[in-house]
Amino acid sequence: MASGREKVISILDASAVLPIRPPVRPLFGLKNEQLSELAAELAVPAYRARQLAQALYRDWAATLDDITTLPQSLREKLTRAGYSIALPEIAETFKSIDGTERYLIATADGQTVETVWMPEGDDGEEGDGSDAGDEEASGHHDATICVSSQIGCAVNCQFCLTAKLGIIRNLTAGEIAGQVVTVLKRHNARIGRDRINLVFMGMGEPFLNYDAFMDAVRLLVDEVCIAESRMTVSTSGIVPGIERFAAEPVRPKLAISLNASNDKVREEIMPITRKWDIGDLMDAVRKLPLRPRERVTFEYVLLGGVNDQPKHAAEVVRLIRRANLPAKVNLIAWNPGPGIPYAMPSAEDVTRFQQHLIDNGIPAFIRRPRGRDIYAACGQLKQTVEV
Ligand code: SAH
Ligand code: SF4
Repeated sequence: MASGREKVISILDASAVLPIRPPVRPLFGLKNEQLSELAAELAVPAYRARQLAQALYRDWAATLDDITTLPQSLREKLTRAGYSIALPEIAETFKSIDGTERYLIATADGQTVETVWMPEGDDGEEGDGSDAGDEEASGHHDATICVSSQIGCAVNCQFCLTAKLGIIRNLTAGEIAGQVVTVLKRHNARIGRDRINLVFMGMGEPFLNYDAFMDAVRLLVDEVCIAESRMTVSTSGIVPGIERFAAEPVRPKLAISLNASNDKVREEIMPITRKWDIGDLMDAVRKLPLRPRERVTFEYVLLGGVNDQPKHAAEVVRLIRRANLPAKVNLIAWNPGPGIPYAMPSAEDVTRFQQHLIDNGIPAFIRRPRGRDIYAACGQLKQTVEV
């Protein structure tokens, strides 16, 4: 038998190993109006809707039976009508030596999504205003949760493992917000005491599942009570999505996966550039009304020999200067994945790139790869099971 060290991670269709659960009418994910409609349908007083919201989003009840504020007759009525809480469940946990945990979270239709818990953040929040006005952290959790928005992804970035899956389906708002609550429950985290950041940077392109993604954000802000200033969404550059996002009264911070310093390289590594080029992208980003101290993050995955040379750094400086907005750059050394024909950048090229940006007045951070050993790092998310 292989020892733990020799275990191989092989990539399988996880639906083959997860039982398909019968379809349910999930309560988790319903917004206030929908809960009120449900109360009306069941001919129970309107305040029952508030009690349900409290149980779902503040108390994180697992089953209807846990909701003791509701009379048993109502719980039975809900069950008979096919309702259940249907909070997503952790099907499998992979633990990294660096404290990162990656979860396969089972959806009701037997698919899995990936969510990552990173203690002490991922270094990507520095300098973007998210620590503005914080009290001394008094809690014992200081963590970032990386949330998926789709199963698979349609965008086809050449360096990303998730792209290999293609798009399987969109997640619902309940499945997106549910990942967060499921992981918070696992760690006995408490909102208000613990410092929890959310990054919508898991599997999928959030702006190609815009409505469910924003519904999830509103649930997490209004009901779960996580401040939107602690949330960041990353997009590969879906221009209509960025434009809608700019009009949102409540929204996470924005990160753009720039990843290349000119259209030629970007087209090669991110074919979506043929639809919206860097100019279109920058025009859309400039329309975003920024909050005080807010910066737009540009993520830049360094691919050895492809986009990591001094001339590329100089082009990035020019691009960001021309955009003329408060910005910062998160540099991510490419995380390898099976069958992806790129090379990791050298440590010298990474620091030289960063220094070039800093010398030109652009805040630049190197994102520490988290959980690389368990395929939890950026762009490594793909349904994997250990054999
Ligand atoms: N689809 C969204 C969000 C998920 S990807 C987006 O593309 O922005 C999150 C980040 O991981 C992106 O910045 C992406 O460029 C980066 N990424 C993808 N594959 C990677 C890899 N193999 N190594 C390092 N970063 C990667
Ligand atoms: Fe999709 Fe983001 Fe991966 Fe591109 S980098 S394929 S947009 S998940």
